[in-house]
Amino acid sequence: MLTIGAFAAASRLSPKALRLYDELDLLRPARVDPDTGYRYYALAQLERARLVAWLRRLGMPLAGIREVCALETGDAAREIRAYWARVERETAVRRDLAAFLVDHLTAEAREDTVMLELRYSAHSDTGRVRPANQDTAYAGARLLAVADGYGPAGAPASSAAVEALKFLEREELPAGSVLNLLEDAVRGASEAVRDVAGGSEEVGTTLTALLWTGSRLALVHIGDSRAYLLRGGALFRISHDHSVVQSLLDEGRLTPEEATSHPQRALLLKALGTGAPDMKLHEALPGDRYLLCSDGLTGVVPDDRIADLLTTAQAPDDAVHALVEAANEAGGPDNVSCVVADVVEVGG
Ligand code: MN
Repeated sequence: MLTIGAFAAASRLSPKALRLYDELDLLRPARVDPDTGYRYYALAQLERARLVAWLRRLGMPLAGIREVCALETGDAAREIRAYWARVERETAVRRDLAAFLVDHLTAEAREDTVMLELRYSAHSDTGRVRPANQDTAYAGARLLAVADGYGPAGAPASSAAVEALKFLEREELPAGSVLNLLEDAVRGASEAVRDVAGGSEEVGTTLTALLWTGSRLALVHIGDSRAYLLRGGALFRISHDHSVVQSLLDEGRLTPEEATSHPQRALLLKALGTGAPDMKLHEALPGDRYLLCSDGLTGVVPDDRIADLLTTAQAPDDAVHALVEAANEAGGPDNVSCVVADVVEVGG
C-alpha cells in the first residue's frame, strides 16, 4: 500500500487530483483509514490513475471516463475512438458555421467581376417497388431542393417543406443575412411539416437545399438526402448523412461494406424539425455541377457511377434523367429524386 503522497509521485499526478478523482468516483483509494481518513493506494491502481489523467486531458466527460475505465482494453480503445469521432464531427459542424459567418461578414468587401447564374433541372420518380412517390424535388433560378418524406403523410410532408422554401425564389429577398434568411426558411418549413403531420411522430421529411446568392451557394441540410459537387472532374460529397449507419461508420463501429447492407440503414438520427440542420456556404466556380438527391439514388448507385453519369451528361436535364434511370436499372427499390445545377457565366 502506498500513501497518497507516494502514489501521487509514482503516478505523476498531484494529491489534489487524486482526491478529486476519489470524489468524482473515478478512482477510489484501495483503503481509507477509518480513524485518520488517510487514503492508501495499491500499486496495481497506477495504470488506472494514468488512464484517468489522459482521458481528462482528452476532454472526455466524467461519465465517459467511468465507462472506459470499466472496460477491457480492446473495448476501451473502441470507446475512445468513438468518442473522438463524435468530437471531430461536432467540430466540423462548428467549423462550417464559423466559415459561413466569416464569409458572410467579409462578403460585402468582395467585388465579383464575373456574373454567374445557374442552369438547372429536377426529376423525381416513384421507382419500381414503392406504390407512391413521397419525394419532392425542385429546381429554380435561386433555389434547389430535395426532400424525402416518410410515414403515412410522407408525400405532403416533403412537398410542404419545399413549398415553404419557395419564397426564397423571389427576386427581392428580404433584408438580412443569408444565414438568418435560411434559418427562418427552415423554421417555416419545419412548421409546415408539423402541420401536415398533425402530431404524428411517424410523419416527417429530410431536406437538402441550396440557395443561390449570385456568387455562392448556401447549403442547408438535415437527414440522409445528399449534396454533391462535381468540380475539375472529381466528385465531392458536401453533406453528411444524419443517419444511424453514418454515425456508426464515423465511430469506426461499422465498415463501409457492412453499411451498404445494414438493416437499419434508413434510420435517421435527425429530420426536419427534430434537430439543427447543417449549414455551409460554397464559393461557386464557373463549370461547377451540383447534385442534390434522395437516398433512392445513393442507396443503389455507387458514388463512382454517379460521378461517371454526371461527367458524361451534357445538360442538367440529361443528367437527372440518366441518374434516375440508373437507380431504376439497379432495381428502383425506393423513390428517387435528383436535382442538377450547373454554374455558368451569364450569357455564356
Ligand atoms: Mn428515400
